[in-house]
Amino acid sequence: MYPILICPQKIKLQPDVSRLYIEKQNKIFSQPINESAVSILSLCNGKNGVQDIINQLIKKYHEKEEKVSNFVKDFLNKSATFGTITWLNSPSPADIAIVGSSEFWTPDIIVIEVTHNCPLSCNHCFLNAGKKGIGMELKELQKICKEIVALDVDMIQLTGGEPLIYPGIEEIISYICESNTKLFITTSGMIISSKIYEYLALIKNTGGWVQVSLDGLEATHNNLRGNPSSYSRAVKFITNLISKEVEVQVATCVTTESINEVEDLCKKVKDWGVRVHRIGVVSERGRAKENEIHSSVEFRKKVKNIKNNLKEKYSSPNFTISGFENEIKPEMQRSIKSKNCGAGYRTLKISPDYNIHPCPMINLPLDNLKNTTLADFIKKNNHSFARLESPSEKYCMNCSNFPLCKGCMTEALLYRERVEKCKWFEKSQIKERLNGTFQALEEIKLKGV
Ligand code: SF4
Ligand code: SF4
Repeated sequence: MYPILICPQKIKLQPDVSRLYIEKQNKIFSQPINESAVSILSLCNGKNGVQDIINQLIKKYHEKEEKVSNFVKDFLNKSATFGTITWLNSPSPADIAIVGSSEFWTPDIIVIEVTHNCPLSCNHCFLNAGKKGIGMELKELQKICKEIVALDVDMIQLTGGEPLIYPGIEEIISYICESNTKLFITTSGMIISSKIYEYLALIKNTGGWVQVSLDGLEATHNNLRGNPSSYSRAVKFITNLISKEVEVQVATCVTTESINEVEDLCKKVKDWGVRVHRIGVVSERGRAKENEIHSSVEFRKKVKNIKNNLKEKYSSPNFTISGFENEIKPEMQRSIKSKNCGAGYRTLKISPDYNIHPCPMINLPLDNLKNTTLADFIKKNNHSFARLESPSEKYCMNCSNFPLCKGCMTEALLYRERVEKCKWFEKSQIKERLNGTFQALEEIKLKGV
């Protein structure tokens, strides 16, 4: 019998936990696998019989035959039951794609702010985006996308400003979708055009989605967005995309104006057929800070309670309520040995000036793609970030800022100056561990990140 890995026959190596890609209901998912699993599954190519695999592993690990044989047979039987391999009666060789590296992390997601131009000028925009925002050169953006695809990054997020007004966005969407990279687009839903819908429909083949912002019911949303038709356009945009079977998620930044409307909004969103309703707060950055509409510690607690209540009341197999972050699945969480969110190595952001930043929420230029390639940047920097610790009970238990900083290094860099002594900043050795990777750390005080 010849074991063969199921489609898409792909394994991604990472320094901590590697990934096996599997297809379920026409979507590609990845699951964590350890080193022994990588060794066995990478030999399940339809050419090796069970004994060939055992022999190769005896050589590799210098172990006794009986031990290796029992382990391999047991592992293969479990994998067949779980559906990650299947058995062939005769050899039928296939190429297994082994991508990534055990020397450095390949990011799970790279966020590209294609433009800071936006038809809206929302009161809470943390990027200060608006009608005069700068955008990337199309040729440069194409080059960046090619590089990301070549690196085998799992997902690209196109964002802005408003990415759907970027000239050439259609070409970029087509390229990413054809390359089988998962695509996720964030938008205000202001751009209603049949051409755009046609291209956005390609996203469903990648397992990606479109995320539309809706910050309250009609009057509240329009007021925050500074445009009387922003709500009706967003709703039309959402329902149109859903009718084309594109997965739509809605993100709601809760403010004091919208807090009593969140439940009604959640019910509507569910009725329209949205798959995920992301409910979060407003960070103290950009226009949110200028307009003083960012969320206080007390307000964050209220929003958290509301979100948890809504989760209990409205969650269903087709509808999830979550926060703004992509929640890491428990099985992945258990296997990830790091003590941080992945900023700077699992996640990167590229801004319209080609600067590379460690996460979508922070403008902290680490290097510029005019001076380096993404591959070189990743090899050089990502071990420094992997060593960092996010703020946790270990350092922050008695600090009044903990609800603001918990789990997020970006928020902690912003809020640490508000307390006499930030134990996380001192004791987690963030400066030393980054080893001079970025100078701007010193400047991140109260001026906002
Ligand atoms: S200010 Fe520092 S010590 Fe306080 S919660 Fe934030 S990271 Fe932790
Ligand atoms: S630093 Fe904060 S905002 Fe950035 S990825 Fe980590 S948790 Fe998210």
